Amino acid sequence: MNTIELDQQFVASTYKRFPVEIVSGKGSLVQDANGKEYIDMGSGIAVSSFGVADELWIAAVEKQIHSVQHMSNLFYTAPCANLAKLLCEKTGMSKVFFSNSGAEANECAIKVARKWAAENKGPACSTIVTLKNSFHGRTLTTLAATGQDHFHELFQPLTPGFASFAVGDMDALKALCANGTVAAVLIELVQGEGGVIPLDPAFVKELDAYLKEQNILLMIDEVQTGNGRTGSLYAYMQYGLHPDVVSTAKGLAGGLPMGATLMSEKVCNVLSYGDHGSTFGGNPVAAAAAISVVERLTDDLLADVTRKSKLIRSLLEGAPGIESVTGLGLMIGIKTVKPAAEVLAACRESGVLCLTAKDKVRLLPALNIPDDLLIKAAEVIKQACA
Ligand SMILES: *Cc1c(COP(=O)(O)O)cnc(C)c1O
Repeated sequence: MNTIELDQQFVASTYKRFPVEIVSGKGSLVQDANGKEYIDMGSGIAVSSFGVADELWIAAVEKQIHSVQHMSNLFYTAPCANLAKLLCEKTGMSKVFFSNSGAEANECAIKVARKWAAENKGPACSTIVTLKNSFHGRTLTTLAATGQDHFHELFQPLTPGFASFAVGDMDALKALCANGTVAAVLIELVQGEGGVIPLDPAFVKELDAYLKEQNILLMIDEVQTGNGRTGSLYAYMQYGLHPDVVSTAKGLAGGLPMGATLMSEKVCNVLSYGDHGSTFGGNPVAAAAAISVVERLTDDLLADVTRKSKLIRSLLEGAPGIESVTGLGLMIGIKTVKPAAEVLAACRESGVLCLTAKDKVRLLPALNIPDDLLIKAAEVIKQACA
């Protein structure tokens, strides 16, 4: 049996995989089992920040593997401590909890909010409010946080204590908050899985002001938007926010599993001994990889992400068969006249790998994708859309 047959027989059927087996790659180019080369416009869903088999990333991982690959959180290890310091210095946050995924980073944020509210506003104050059309993960609690009913249907009962309101509908939020039971509001600044939709800065500003006035925590899910993806280290920086909690994952360790929950001074000591933990969280290899990624997210690199964003958008906007282009930085959604799946299949045929989000074509290329590959991919996408 070949890989595809083995996978179909023995791996749980939870993914509708593309009919492509990737065997190797370098940067933004990957090869399939037949030797066909593709431009990778998805980077593993915004995970491989500097593409596939990046030399600096390999060096950071390799160095750590040769010293110690894992010790558990019962011991101190330098990569974990150094990464936490780096993230705090670059964000102004005060402490970090490390985990292994976006869902876990959000779980931690939710635990922080619940304990903070119980201690500061009373045990009845436990509701976490999120936005409609959001995505916060696949665990039962982060599914409850996800404001899309179709994710909920088959898995009742979900964790209680969640509510959601439509983007922009401050009256609905105020109604939810009226009885004093809301601990925190958790939002994505660009709804990724929801269709690559950036929030209106005016709405975010009004939301932030209201939450401050009500002493309700503002928590930003930067699992997808974080780590340079939108052209700033974290998207909240572009929105002029000072969130109480920030969760991130995907691109943080450039291809190894790592989640992080960043806590502001206000909540950084809410969790104490025994309140939370993770066997793999803060693993030295993942942390060493993350240090190498975060250290490279300099102002110059972030400015280049914004420049590349403008470049590809200028090539796509207004092209035949393209209705709109949305997003921020190198997180791009394309509303196409043709069904997105059809566009993706035509792109694959022509050697370009794209993703979808809802009914859109979604692009999440490596932050350092060379301009020539970006331009070539845009040409292929345009042809596929026309
Ligand atoms: C991908 C994603 C998650 C879930 O991350 P996992 O690592 O798959 O658990 C949560 N929130 C957002 C915004 C995401 O894009």
